[in-house]
Amino acid sequence: MSASTTIASIKSHLTDLGMPGSLEAIDNLMERLDSGSLSPAEAMDNLLAAQVALRRERRLISAMRSSRLPGIKRLDTFDFSFQPSIDRHQIMSLHELTFIGRKENVILLGPAGVGKTHLAVSMAVTAAEMGKRVYFSTLADLVLSLAEAEKQGRLREKLTFLKGPSLLVVDEIGYMPVTAGGTNLFFQLVNARYERASTVLTSNKSFKEWGEIFGDSVAASAMLDRLLHHCHIVNIKGNSYRLREYPGLSLPQEQASPRRRGKRKSQEVK
Ligand code: ADP
Ligand code: MG
Repeated sequence: MSASTTIASIKSHLTDLGMPGSLEAIDNLMERLDSGSLSPAEAMDNLLAAQVALRRERRLISAMRSSRLPGIKRLDTFDFSFQPSIDRHQIMSLHELTFIGRKENVILLGPAGVGKTHLAVSMAVTAAEMGKRVYFSTLADLVLSLAEAEKQGRLREKLTFLKGPSLLVVDEIGYMPVTAGGTNLFFQLVNARYERASTVLTSNKSFKEWGEIFGDSVAASAMLDRLLHHCHIVNIKGNSYRLREYPGLSLPQEQASPRRRGKRKSQEVK
């Protein structure tokens, strides 16, 4: 078979197999192969990688429609040198997402602007690219939507929907107090997902302060008991990346108080 007939045959196979990413890459790869700038093994690798990249892109586009992610953040734009309290190895290993298979949780703690949402979103983006179902909400929105569903007699349905995603991000625990009804609804969700699917949560408050957020220390303890049972804690202590241009700025207490209290419960949890 002549080279051009072989290429035509490969293209026909790629079309049959539904691999448009590889199909688009093949001419350029053949040219680089002919000129000797690629080895045959590299060319095969690149051919398949082109399809994998397209699949990731398509999965992410589809997830962006359904997951309510606020945007795309990735680990490669996260500046670890700005936040030295972060264990880079822990974050890299969390982005491998094996915790999702084990149905473990992740809680990112720290004051405003230290990158909690960035890291939660970058994990969700990676999960979406791997074909996992993800869903993002702030705690306030989540509680609102649960309360709305309850009012319409659709709470079971809503909880079933929120049980579905392999990764649920609950952002901003602590900025707004939750009503008694809201706490009860969120507790039901935590219970529904416990040991069934992973949740990534972010909070600007230490666990001790969750009783205040949820207006009920018993409910907060019961919630934390489930969330922390299989959980990775990322405790970020540092300055706001948003305010990095203003290093001398002194901010209200919320930013600094957890550090003043010495050892936090979160550090004791493994
Ligand atoms: P938090 O959720 O902790 O309040 P965010 O994750 O929203 O903070 O971060 C605030 C902004 O700063 C976002 O645009 C985020 O992408 C960016 N950011 C935060 N930390 C870093 C970092 N270390 N490197 C790069 N960008 C960062
Ligand atoms: Mg945030």
